[in-house]
Amino acid sequence: MMEKNRLIMEFGCDARNEAVARVVVAAMMTRTNPTLSEVEDVKTAVSEAVTNSIIHGYGLTEGNILLETYIEGRTVYITVTDHGCGIENIEKAMEPMYTTVTDGSRSGMGFSFMEAFMDGLEVISDRENGTVVKMKKIIGKSQEIY
Ligand code: ATP
Ligand code: MG
Repeated sequence: MMEKNRLIMEFGCDARNEAVARVVVAAMMTRTNPTLSEVEDVKTAVSEAVTNSIIHGYGLTEGNILLETYIEGRTVYITVTDHGCGIENIEKAMEPMYTTVTDGSRSGMGFSFMEAFMDGLEVISDRENGTVVKMKKIIGKSQEIY
């Protein structure tokens, strides 16, 4: 990520940092003049990705989460990286309502929300290195319809 407007932030896997990550991305994307709903979409997607890193990636262990974002034209690019336990079966994990948490506390909709609210989602993960979630959102699409 070598774009001059890039922003790179690393933080510990404390749940309170999720709110900070969400707000930082929202602040970053204001320069694309987004609608409120576009900001909400991106905040939700970032929140889901970071929460996954905290809960699933690190769980009871500890580590850092890397948030990278930049803007190219009217597209906001976001990458969330953890060095946690990784995902066994990515295809399965991305299915709606699939969750590995068995106590009923999770609905298995995180990846589905990321997919629905963003204009691109790519997940790279393995047991050795952890998980990378790459997302992008094209701002200003709704105005074009009219
Ligand atoms: P919800 O997001 O609705 O609370 P969930 O987190 O289980 O539930 P998803 O976000 O769709 O659902 O994730 C599906 C599954 O993928 C998780 O249950 C978990 O097993 C795995 N997973 C997702 N992100 C990570 C990650 N960063 N590291 C390890 N496993 C992950
Ligand atoms: Mg989730």
